[in-house]
Amino acid sequence: MSNQNWNIETKCIQAGYTPKNGEPRMIPIIQSTTFKYDSSAEMGKLFDLEASGYFYTRLQNPTNDHVAAKIAALEGGTAAMLTSSGQAASFFSIFNICSAGDHVVSSSTIYGGTFNLFHVTMKKMGIDFTFVDPGCSDEELEAAFRPNTKAVFGETIANPALVVLDIERFAKAAHAHGVPLIIDNTFATPINCRPFEWGADIVIHSTTKYMDGHDCGVGGCIVDSGKFDWMAHADKFPGLCTPDESYHGITYAERFGKEGAYITKATAQLMRDLGSIPAPMNAFLLNLGLESLHVRMPRHCENALKVARFLEGHEKVAWINYPGLESSPYYDLAQKYMPNGTCGVIAFGVKGGRAAAETFMSHLKLAMIATHVADAHTCVLHPASSTHRQLTDEELVAAGVSPDLVRLSVGIENGDDIVADVAQALESI
Ligand SMILES: *Cc1c(COP(=O)(O)O)cnc(C)c1O
Repeated sequence: MSNQNWNIETKCIQAGYTPKNGEPRMIPIIQSTTFKYDSSAEMGKLFDLEASGYFYTRLQNPTNDHVAAKIAALEGGTAAMLTSSGQAASFFSIFNICSAGDHVVSSSTIYGGTFNLFHVTMKKMGIDFTFVDPGCSDEELEAAFRPNTKAVFGETIANPALVVLDIERFAKAAHAHGVPLIIDNTFATPINCRPFEWGADIVIHSTTKYMDGHDCGVGGCIVDSGKFDWMAHADKFPGLCTPDESYHGITYAERFGKEGAYITKATAQLMRDLGSIPAPMNAFLLNLGLESLHVRMPRHCENALKVARFLEGHEKVAWINYPGLESSPYYDLAQKYMPNGTCGVIAFGVKGGRAAAETFMSHLKLAMIATHVADAHTCVLHPASSTHRQLTDEELVAAGVSPDLVRLSVGIENGDDIVADVAQALESI
């Protein structure tokens, strides 16, 4: 594994894979569903989790594992698992410790897809969510917990509202109730924020965004800090703290400890049963993105700040939120958790509301209209008519998405070119 003392830039390049003498310099793409053994006895040990090794790619694949190990190193965690999408990562991160009859406290300003997953699909599975405004009072946060609460969930920087979560405050509340804090760190990336340093226990990513960074592959990742003491709250987490009959009576928290129990269970049980692995080829592409992540993120932030400053003073702009602007209500939180920059995404409204927003967007030449965000290419989206279409007006407000909100994802092109494009499109209104 990687040298823990390396700076994050070095980890982006070197962590997760160390070739031995004569082995490939680059992480090899092991495009194989299965692995060969000399005897059934040897393979049996793998099935019993008595020996570690590969037998079937639905559970584990070496290419995927190298890339997961790199992301674990970047976040400062002890173990990680890749998933086929960010949605799968969100689902598994909760389902690994919750079942029917359980309850989760979640920030209300989360990605629209995550909100649907929690509020509609997981509700059908019998898991209830209480959504709280991330700016709520301590009393309101406290009141959201129930005896059957098993986790707290939030996003470092919410997509698309760009609300910055007070991670430390939410971690304290979660820990006071003996449950872990799960943070979606997609927008900040570990380059700008490492939630484990502020008390988070589990981090998830949609790697589809900055980590991949080039519109190549949909993917996700779950990372464990290895700090949450499941056994100290054994009554709440029977899946980790009592024998798994579907896995030869293994008790994950006993056998794999704090550092390994959560990800081992997610692999051995959820991946085995639900199977949401990325193709090894996609993991290879994700690794290419990770290698340049520390070079790209500062440029995204620099360009976004330039565009945000231009929009802030513009007569056709009704409002703007970019956590890197002093005028943002989240500036102080952003300075605390992300002193080197937040992300490349800006939320703003143009005067004239929805219709003016559409005119503006259709006149952009460099920025493309795309259901995407957080990658090298500048792109733009109107969430209320796309990603957040399923939400009622009330839910939109709770998610921090006003009907006129335009989400501009600033890429790593020349910053002046992006400003010029935005400027000419604003003139068209
Ligand atoms: C896109 C996104 C997701 C969902 O990820 P997919 O890879 O699209 O499944 C989850 N959380 C955040 C913050 C996102 O931006």
